[in-house]
Amino acid sequence: MSRRTIIAGNWKMNTRAADGASLAQGIADAVGENPTVEVVVCPPSVYLSRVADVLAGSAVGLGAQNLYPADDGAYTGEVNAAMLCDSGCRYVILGHSERRAILGETDAQISEKLAAALAGNLVPIVCVGETLDDREGGKTEAVVEEQLRGSLDGLDEARASGVVIAYEPVWAIGTGKTASPEQAEEVHAFIRKLLGELFTDEVAQQMRIQYGGSVKPGNAKELLGQPNIDGALVGGASLKVDDFVAIINAG
Ligand code: PEP
Repeated sequence: MSRRTIIAGNWKMNTRAADGASLAQGIADAVGENPTVEVVVCPPSVYLSRVADVLAGSAVGLGAQNLYPADDGAYTGEVNAAMLCDSGCRYVILGHSERRAILGETDAQISEKLAAALAGNLVPIVCVGETLDDREGGKTEAVVEEQLRGSLDGLDEARASGVVIAYEPVWAIGTGKTASPEQAEEVHAFIRKLLGELFTDEVAQQMRIQYGGSVKPGNAKELLGQPNIDGALVGGASLKVDDFVAIINAG
């Protein structure tokens, strides 16, 4: 089963209009028309349309960092799937650990967002991952399993293969600490086995599982070379054209 590698850059709340536009332009120019891997950038929502203009006609996809799971209406400050599509998005990150930790997002909310993303024809990137305490307490698999079961609750088997999972150990995000390729592969293999139980083995083989957590040009090749690692969700290193392109080229 060959799964197309997917490399996504999560710009978080780090870019403004001008530097985001030049970052997007630099990535689009370097990636060219037919990259072997799928490339996505996820700017802050206020800049989505502007980055969409820069990326128009390029092979780089546009993603959002969150959505609100409701149709248009009285939801002050929120943005829904239809609005993201309207702004040129094809992807959306859901349940990032920063949203879980800072904004108290729950698995139940993430499962609602997942349903809304799929109904709106967006490709969801659903994030899961354990904290350092979880890992040191031997709870990595239990935590990841609970997050996955909760976040994917209600997901129809027929739609599951279009969902991307991002395994992001919280202790490796933005810390410079990366899970070793063996540590990451162990959890990715566990996730794929669980996806086989939740859906079917065939669906699990089709689903892509990204690794995220201090991915850099120097460690990308080894991580992406693991059998169950199908891409990367990149924070810090996605803010520099050269670093992000080097990670893309390692895929
Ligand atoms: C992330 O934001 O999902 C992430 C993995 O960040 P970083 O690459 O900076 O660790």
